[in-house]
Amino acid sequence: MKRRLLLGAIGCAGLNWQSQAWSASGTPASGPAPGQRVVIVGGGWGGLSAARALRQSAPELDVVLIDRDPQLRALPLSSPWLVDRTPERLARIDLATLARQLGYRFVAAEVQSIDRTQRQVHSTQGRFGYDWLVLAAGIDYDYAAWFGDDTRASAQARTQFPAGFMAGELDSLKRKLEEFRGGDLVMTIPPPPYRCPPAPYERAMLIGWWLKTRRIPGKLTIIDASAGIPRFTRLFAEHYRDQIVHQPHSQELVIDPFARKLSTLDGEMGFDHAMLLPPMQASKLVAQTGLLGTNAQGQATRWAGVDPLQLRSLVDDRVYLVGDLLDTVSPLFGHYPKTAHIATRLGASAAQQIAQLSRGSAPTAVALPSSICHVWLSAEPAEHLIMDAQYRQRGDGLIVQTVRQQDNPQPRDEDLQWAQTLYTESLGVPAA
Ligand SMILES: Cc1cc2nc3c(=O)[nH]c(=O)nc-3n(C[C@H](O)[C@H](O)[C@H](O)COP(=O)(O)OP(=O)(O)OC[C@H]3O[C@@H](n4cnc5c(N)ncnc54)[C@H](O)[C@@H]3O)c2cc1C
Repeated sequence: MKRRLLLGAIGCAGLNWQSQAWSASGTPASGPAPGQRVVIVGGGWGGLSAARALRQSAPELDVVLIDRDPQLRALPLSSPWLVDRTPERLARIDLATLARQLGYRFVAAEVQSIDRTQRQVHSTQGRFGYDWLVLAAGIDYDYAAWFGDDTRASAQARTQFPAGFMAGELDSLKRKLEEFRGGDLVMTIPPPPYRCPPAPYERAMLIGWWLKTRRIPGKLTIIDASAGIPRFTRLFAEHYRDQIVHQPHSQELVIDPFARKLSTLDGEMGFDHAMLLPPMQASKLVAQTGLLGTNAQGQATRWAGVDPLQLRSLVDDRVYLVGDLLDTVSPLFGHYPKTAHIATRLGASAAQQIAQLSRGSAPTAVALPSSICHVWLSAEPAEHLIMDAQYRQRGDGLIVQTVRQQDNPQPRDEDLQWAQTLYTESLGVPAA
């Protein structure tokens, strides 16, 4: 394994490697060629799903998956665990072991840059050449939206007041919640789009339950840039009046993470602890690599510009885009919800496109994704809301979204079954 990895890295860095002639559209000019290479950046839900699907549909391709984190840590189902409402229910996945089991290569490394002209990914473990790149690097927080170029303030917010919307922060956030003895706790919710739209409200409800049942003399103030979700607004008022204050439409948020103070147009407050969730944007690699989308005014957005029916970058046929980093996909509803379910579906679809291209076939239209979310409405007794989003193409080619919501007043681990099915069917994790 080590030898293969070394050869791959050396070959990509040094050798002048050419597989075959390519047409301008990125379609092979002749039939399949051996040794074509796919590099997947990001071993989250989208990247792992793409790797698994490539192994199944194009086993002849050389697939390398790169992630800075050697483990997949699931964000779905994390909020009840944060407040000890449930144990940690989803296993952490060792990416090297999974890659060995499924037959692709995993490299634990930070991707520093991507040279699209040379088709090379530059990482802390060397350079990797590719014929196709799958970029599935998720999101980054945009602390600069709050602090400009004050990197000290950004670092203070990131380390002292983690939001817990990136998997690597979950253990630290849990420790900080365990240390919270009372006083003012703050949660900020940025303007959309952000990960899993109901997630901040579900987490707030569970924290309200935790404060109440543990008799912690604290109050959670939600500084929300938007109106909120009416169902949760009612729940906060009816069940957690003494624990949760929801401040919708909060504007002109200014935070001092050293003095633990914030202000909005509604006034100022201090806080004892906070979950500071800043605006989100696509992974910084997207901007660095020149893959940002543009809005109707021709200005760059914060997300990766994509052809939603092919999942290719708008500016580079060799780059497939998967998961939370996508820009809008339809003028009818904007972004796909940034969910693990959508990311896995997109990963499989991108893999299908690459498999077809690598064999010299014209790619067929991608299957549009779908997404199911199981959201906690009540902690005790447990009550869930099932949000089911489906997508189809309309006669004029635009993608249409249909969302159905259904209460699940007596959940029987449907959320766990949903996640385990994605683990096994989409990511290829062996059933426990
Ligand atoms: C609290 C919460 C609850 C949620 N609940 C649900 C739910 O119930 N259902 C659901 O479907 N979704 C849910 N989600 C959303 C889901 O977690 C995300 O949509 C999903 O993680 C997106 O997958 P992704 O592959 O796009 O990104 P990620 O899973 O974030 O994967 C991106 C990967 O890229 C890696 N990476 C990034 N940059 C680099 C670099 N430069 N070098 C190397 N590696 C890099 C990262 O380490 C990461 O592993 C929830 C999210 C949150 C925050």
